[in-house]
Amino acid sequence: MSYRVTLIPGDGIGPEVTNAARLVADATGVKIDWEVVDAGEKAIKATGSPLPDQVLESIRRTKVALKGPITTPIGSGFRSVNVALRQQLDLYASVRPARAIAGEGTRFPETDLIVVREATEGLYSGVEHWVDRDHTAAETVNIITRKASDRIIRFAFELARRDGRKHVTAVHKANIMKTTGALFQTAFRELAPQYPEIQADERLIDNMCMQLVKKPEEYDVIVTTNLFGDILSDLCAGLAGGLGVAPGALYGESLAVFEPVHGSAPKYAGQDKADPVAEILCVELLLAHLGETEAADRVFRAVWETIQEKKVVTYDLALPGYTTHPVAASSCSAMAKEIARKVPLVDLSKPLLRSAPPSAVAVDGHLEAESASRA
Ligand code: NAD
Repeated sequence: MSYRVTLIPGDGIGPEVTNAARLVADATGVKIDWEVVDAGEKAIKATGSPLPDQVLESIRRTKVALKGPITTPIGSGFRSVNVALRQQLDLYASVRPARAIAGEGTRFPETDLIVVREATEGLYSGVEHWVDRDHTAAETVNIITRKASDRIIRFAFELARRDGRKHVTAVHKANIMKTTGALFQTAFRELAPQYPEIQADERLIDNMCMQLVKKPEEYDVIVTTNLFGDILSDLCAGLAGGLGVAPGALYGESLAVFEPVHGSAPKYAGQDKADPVAEILCVELLLAHLGETEAADRVFRAVWETIQEKKVVTYDLALPGYTTHPVAASSCSAMAKEIARKVPLVDLSKPLLRSAPPSAVAVDGHLEAESASRA
């Protein structure tokens, strides 16, 4: 049996990391028939549109896609392709696991969280305007509906139930946003009793940020609205080791699109330098979604062991300033080949080993300073 899956290579480092992900997917032995379609800069050149209908048609047909990051041109007339894709396909649940892999590159080697973010409304609804002609005042409308709140909160509890997670935390700002915040809070309070086996609690967004950097191990599944989820998922990616290792998934009622948390990192495009792990872990999530759980587990373990061994890892897992145990950096394709080589060989019955926690925390200047415009 073969699965048909849409593949969007994307912009910048997208083609490199999606090639790496394909190599690893092939190594699992699961037969995937990739339907390659372009969105983003290549599509603008070919069709004039960054999101041609053909892309949406392909995903509606195959129902599952692997996507590379796509550049959002600043100042051009185009809206973010990523936001448009979520809204047009009603991919309402953005799920971003933050797992500290092998205890590398993180101050919190026990981090194992999932951020579930509502992805279709809130401050991303696209309802905004200048209030005056001189552009000295502006307004962006935060649309929160009970329907979308119920849907995402139910999704988070169902995910927790399915994955055997014990605790769901709703994050909002209901003390200040008396309507939108309260609507989300009420939906959570009314739905939580339907999942009595799962501990349910709430945090205000500001307190949540502080709690996460103090004791991330106390949190399990976090459910929140669009912008808070955007910010928290980057924060959690940082807790778990950085953008280079943070995968993501977008789910609708019947469609699923897998994409890394990171963007197209244009300054590294074409250099075979970017970390392929985030995109490779998207393959893990994709295989799990297809029901290929053993193949998914093999991918995760091969990634884990490659990072733990630290013989063939990209710069963000290798160099001084990024890690307390520097080694020579390998290329994106070399790391992908090493992970693919391990996939059929790993022993799923062995415990996963962790590196000793670093005594001093490495400062990752690029990853921390530059993720200003994540969609
Ligand atoms: P970015 O994630 O592309 O890059 C920020 C920095 O993080 C990079 O300069 C690099 O130092 C590092 N980095 C990112 N991915 C890496 C990887 N795989 N390996 C090693 N280092 C990595 O964020 P940005 O610079 O804010 O955005 C660049 C473009 O990507 C923008 O046009 C933005 O709109 C777009 N973007 C797209 C998506 C998406 O497609 N879902 C998400 C975020 C940003």
